[in-house]
Amino acid sequence: MKVKIAIVGGGISGLCLAHFLLGEGGAGAADPIVLEAEDRPGGKIRTEKAEGYICEWGVNGFLDNRPRTLQVADNLGLKVQRSADAARKRFIYLKARPRLLPESPAAFLISDVLSPLGKLRIALEPFIPANKNDETLAGFATRRLGRRAYENLIDPMASGVFAGDPEKMSVESCFPKIKAMERKYGSLVRAMISLGREAKKAGKGPVGAGPGGVLSSFSGGMEELILALKAILGERLKTGCRVAGIERLEGASGYRLHIEGKEAVLAEAVVLACPAYEAARILKDFDKDLSRVVGDIEYPAVSVVSLGFRREKLKHSFPVDAFGFLVPFKEGRKILGVLYDSSIFPERAPEGHVLLRVMVGGARASGLAMLDDERLLSLVSGELQGMLGLRATPDFVRIFRHERAIPQYPLGHAQRLEKMDGALAAHRGLFMTGNAFRGISLNDCIDNSFALAQNINMKL
Ligand SMILES: Cc1cc2nc3c(=O)[nH]c(=O)nc-3n(C[C@H](O)[C@H](O)[C@H](O)COP(=O)(O)OP(=O)(O)OC[C@H]3O[C@@H](n4cnc5c(N)ncnc54)[C@H](O)[C@@H]3O)c2cc1C
Repeated sequence: MKVKIAIVGGGISGLCLAHFLLGEGGAGAADPIVLEAEDRPGGKIRTEKAEGYICEWGVNGFLDNRPRTLQVADNLGLKVQRSADAARKRFIYLKARPRLLPESPAAFLISDVLSPLGKLRIALEPFIPANKNDETLAGFATRRLGRRAYENLIDPMASGVFAGDPEKMSVESCFPKIKAMERKYGSLVRAMISLGREAKKAGKGPVGAGPGGVLSSFSGGMEELILALKAILGERLKTGCRVAGIERLEGASGYRLHIEGKEAVLAEAVVLACPAYEAARILKDFDKDLSRVVGDIEYPAVSVVSLGFRREKLKHSFPVDAFGFLVPFKEGRKILGVLYDSSIFPERAPEGHVLLRVMVGGARASGLAMLDDERLLSLVSGELQGMLGLRATPDFVRIFRHERAIPQYPLGHAQRLEKMDGALAAHRGLFMTGNAFRGISLNDCIDNSFALAQNINMKL
C-alpha cells in the first residue's frame, strides 16, 4: 500500500492532524492515514463508564480559552461542557489543611496561603530586574516572587500541570507566556496591569499570569472527542498497527514504515505523532542522532486513582463542593493532589455519590505511581485519612496507571528542539509532533497539529 501521508500515533495530536489535513468535510488536498498501535485510538484520552461513574483514564479536560479546540468540537458537532461554578474554588494543602486560593488581589491580602512576609516579598516583584535567559521554574519563581510563593503556590502548580520537578523544568519551555511577560514588561505585576488595561479598553475580562479559561469537557467525558474524530476518519484510521521502523524508499521519494506483524506501508510523507520514546525506537536505525535527541525526553510515571463514595460518608470529613487541591512538595505528602471530579462535572458520579480523583507519582515520586493496586490504594487511603480525616471506605475504585505519563521539558529543552528541527530538515517529508515538544496540554497539541497541517499542505 502506498499512501500520501502516514501519521504514526492516533492520540489527539495524530487524529487532529488527520482532521486538519482532510479539511472541513474531508475536502483537503492531503490524503492521510493514521497508524495506531493499540486497538483503540485516543492515547492518553480514554473515558471509562461503570456503576454510574464517568472516570477519566488520563486527560480530565481542557481550558476553553483556545479557539481552535472549540472550533474542532464545533466542527465535529460536539457540545462543550463547562465545569460547574463550584470548581472556581481551588485549594492548596498547607500546614495540615486545604487553604482557599484567593481569586482576586483583595482576597489575596487576607488569604492564609502566604505569611505577611511572603506577601510583602511579592509586593517587591516589580523592582526585581528581568533576566533575559532561560532558567528553572524554581529559580525564576524564587527570584521574582520569593521562596515562600514558590514553595506554596508555584511548586504545586508545576505538579498539577506537568507532574514535574520545578528545580529542573525550563520556565521558557514550560510556561513561555510567563517568561515573555518578564521579557516584555520587566515584571509580572507590571505585565498584568498593562495587559489588564488593554483588555479593559478592548472590553475583555481580567488578565492573569496563569493560563486563564474555564476547565471544560463533554457530557460523556473526553473520549467523545476521540470517538467523533474516529467516526470522520473511518477507514483512514488503522488500529493495531505498531510502527517498528522507518527507511527511505530507494530511487523514489517517500518512506517505508515497518509495522509489527503486518505488511509495510509506503508513504510520500510521514508524521511521527507518537510519544518521543516510541519515535526514538522507530528512528533508531534511520537516524541515530535524531533518535538519541528525542529518546532523551523523560516521562515520569503518574497514576490516577478514582474513588467513589456515597456522599453521606464524607459529611464528617471535608467539604467537596470545589475543584480540589494540590499539594506543595515541601509538605512531604505522598500524593500530588485530589480533584473533586463530581463537583467539577456533576454527572461524573451517580445521584447521592461523589467521585474523587487522586494523582500519585510525577518526576519526584515516579516509583509511587507504579506500586501494585493494593499498596497504591492503601497509600492513597492513608493520605486521605491523614490529610482530610477521610476514614470512609470507597464504594467504587478504579486505578489508571501511566508508566510513562507526561513528557518533561527541562532546562536545555529549546536546544533539543533546535537539534531535532535541524535533523528533520535533512529528511524531506518527515515530520514530528505531539505533546513531547512544544506544549503538553491538549490545547497545545491541537494548535501544533493545526500549524503542522498548514506546513505540510504548503510543502506537498
Ligand atoms: C494522567 C494524565 C492526565 C492528563 N490530564 C490532562 C488534562 O486534564 N488536560 C490536558 O490538556 N492535558 C492533560 N494531559 C496531557 C495529555 O497527555 C496531552 O494533552 C495529550 O493527550 C497528548 O496527546 P498526544 O496525541 O500528543 O499523545 P498520546 O496521547 O500519548 O498519543 C500517542 C499515540 O501514539 C500511539 N503509539 C505509540 N507508539 C506507537 C507506534 N510505534 N506506532 C503507532 N502508534 C503508536 C499511542 O498508542 C497513542 O495512541 C494528561 C496526561 C496524563 C498522562
